[in-house]
Amino acid sequence: MDSTVFPVDKFRTLKTVVRNLCQGLSSLLFPTACIVCDQRIEEPQAVVCQNCWSDLKLLSVDIIKTKPIPEQLDAILPVFEFNDTMQKIIHGLKYGGYKSSGIHLGRLMASRLPREFLLKDTLLMPVPLHPIKKRERGYNQSLFIARGVAEVSGNTVRDNILKRVKNTVTQTHLDARERHENMLGAFAINRSCDLSGINSVVLIDDVFTTGATMNAAAAVLKSYGVASIRGLTVAAPI
Ligand SMILES: [Zn+2]
Repeated sequence: MDSTVFPVDKFRTLKTVVRNLCQGLSSLLFPTACIVCDQRIEEPQAVVCQNCWSDLKLLSVDIIKTKPIPEQLDAILPVFEFNDTMQKIIHGLKYGGYKSSGIHLGRLMASRLPREFLLKDTLLMPVPLHPIKKRERGYNQSLFIARGVAEVSGNTVRDNILKRVKNTVTQTHLDARERHENMLGAFAINRSCDLSGINSVVLIDDVFTTGATMNAAAAVLKSYGVASIRGLTVAAPI
């Protein structure tokens, strides 16, 4: 037996015990407040309370039908209403570092999807951030949403195929045409990736507004021969 293995393992165990003890003490002394309603949360490490998760509303089929499908996509499916609760959860996911909320949102979405939406060979691709934005934020929130979806659906997540090559300005104050122009040439395919054999992709993003971002990402995938590209988002405004 390698004599160095045992002490290292022992040290790790001790570190874990100390970390768990500190977390336990900290949640006892400073109970977490829900990032949405500010009520105390009993579950360790949760940042959103059960009441607020229950407050999320599925978008009705009638509302989804009013959303224009961007021309490069075959379908779009925003799952929840972008209500005040959702706005706060997504804000925490993007700017507060609460990645676990992204995973939980993904799980909730997947459990509500029609089975035929995610067939086995469909790849899940989170819409990538530009490297500068990713460095600032530290992570891509859509990757965590995709991981949550995959946990339930069993589909494969690929976040190394698409890349964002243009650091676009924020789209909040742009109209649909300006958003479309803003996104032109925003995405590319990583050179080392072989897309042959990929027939079905579901792009994953947080909020669906005009779909300009997903459209630009889909255009690049289509140009590489991907036959079916659909968009799945956590939410869309009513
Ligand atoms: Zn709450």
